[in-house]
Amino acid sequence: MAKHSMFINGEWVDSVSGETFQDKNPADGTLFAEVPKANLEDADRALEAAFNARSVWANTDPGERARVLYKASALLLERQKEFADVLIGEGGAMFGKAMFETGYVADLLHTAGEDCRRILGETFPSSHGKIGMTIYRPLGTVVAISPWNFPLLLSCNKVSYALAAGNTVILKPASETPVIGLKIAELFEAAGLPAGVLNVITGPGGLLGDKLIEDPRSDLISFTGETLTGRKIGAKAGENLKKFTLELGGKDPMIILADADVDYAVNAAAFGAFMHQGQICMSVERIIVAESIVEEFAGKLAAKAKTLTVGDPTQPTTIIGPLINDDQIETVHAHVQDAAAKGAAILSGGKYEGRFYEPTVLSGVTRDMRIFKEETFGPVAPIIAVKDEKEALEVANDTEYGLSSGVITNDLQKAVFLAENLESGMVHINDSSLYDDPYCPFGGCKSSGIGREGGRRSMEEMSELKWITIHKGDRQFPF
Ligand code: NDP
Repeated sequence: MAKHSMFINGEWVDSVSGETFQDKNPADGTLFAEVPKANLEDADRALEAAFNARSVWANTDPGERARVLYKASALLLERQKEFADVLIGEGGAMFGKAMFETGYVADLLHTAGEDCRRILGETFPSSHGKIGMTIYRPLGTVVAISPWNFPLLLSCNKVSYALAAGNTVILKPASETPVIGLKIAELFEAAGLPAGVLNVITGPGGLLGDKLIEDPRSDLISFTGETLTGRKIGAKAGENLKKFTLELGGKDPMIILADADVDYAVNAAAFGAFMHQGQICMSVERIIVAESIVEEFAGKLAAKAKTLTVGDPTQPTTIIGPLINDDQIETVHAHVQDAAAKGAAILSGGKYEGRFYEPTVLSGVTRDMRIFKEETFGPVAPIIAVKDEKEALEVANDTEYGLSSGVITNDLQKAVFLAENLESGMVHINDSSLYDDPYCPFGGCKSSGIGREGGRRSMEEMSELKWITIHKGDRQFPF
């Protein structure tokens, strides 16, 4: 078991109070690490450090910022296994997910490096004797608050682009996965980031969050997590007239139309619903299938679910690792039992041992069931039968969420109809809802969030757009 320190103003420090909290391995409940429990004084230290480092980083040449991000990317690849072990040990990631996440983040850091030089303003035609232009300036300090499910990726989505845009950063990782946040600080320290530009504090989100949002030394709150938490953060940020972006929960639909290749659809659905035990905001949480193929599809998906290895996440052959905590086990099981009690058939799974929930396929799911409405965040594939693409659209949109969607059909007209009308921030044709790319605009509508992350959109969200004019000669004033 390792004891860790936090990273404030370029130094590794304990919390002011000396208090710590325990970070446990979700697979077996053993102690993974002990980390500092930051309080308001620690948050204040981080805010001060980030505030004081602003001008250094804002005035650092974009090429130099890019070099730091490229170096961090290269170092992450060199240390990939070490980072993957943390994702497995504290986050319950299976080996394949941990290797994917670390590789993806290396690419993300590199992409953010490339974007340092690509934040382009506009010029405007001469009007009233002026030349006009826009430039992007750093906002100041970005507060990044991230969840536990893809903790390296979702933290670095924010940290990488906040740095690329010339901001200083305070990262508050989830208390289920604090060590990976501290590893991000190690990476940037080794990459040569100046002191104070990135600060990482670990501790309770409610307490630290309020302080970080309310304090005048922070300029943008970039949050990923539950919708309920996002509502509180949005309200608090609004009260303080502070900019914020929210990446929140989902109940993502995957629509499979009658012409689909059933075997392909089964593979896409299994990946979309079961990857990382379904604990992804873009996980497939409702599979909406044309009634002419629903029986074949459900049978094949259940058969596939039964072949997936559940167990020790360190083993490369494992597909289904542990859920993050007992609360999640309770929620997932309550959703499955509620569906069964209201008439759904459990075609596979429906049981658990410790934190390990079997990949579960439910058919005959209806709209009155909790599993239709509430985010489950577990390895469950609920199947709903529909007549055609019009009913599929109506069922898919019957949710408060709107993050991502998948559509499987070879009918171009129907695919376009669904892509245009699905109420979600992202639609992936010929795939499940589970897809991301560092350069593309990621984000949702309805209760799934406000704002977009990725590439140019992150650079814009994390910058201040400024309009500048230059008057040619003397302006004629009316009095
Ligand atoms: P939470 O909302 O519980 O926590 C997320 C982060 O917010 C944690 O760091 C937490 O700290 C912190 N936090 C908690 N309360 C507050 C508060 N009042 N003010 C400020 N910060 C606070 O989410 P989970 O960690 O449980 O993550 C799972 C959720 O995230 C799911 O709903 C999932 O759909 C969503 N998600 C959305 C994504 C998207 O891009 N749309 C991507 C991935 C996940 P602490 O841990 O200390 O409580």
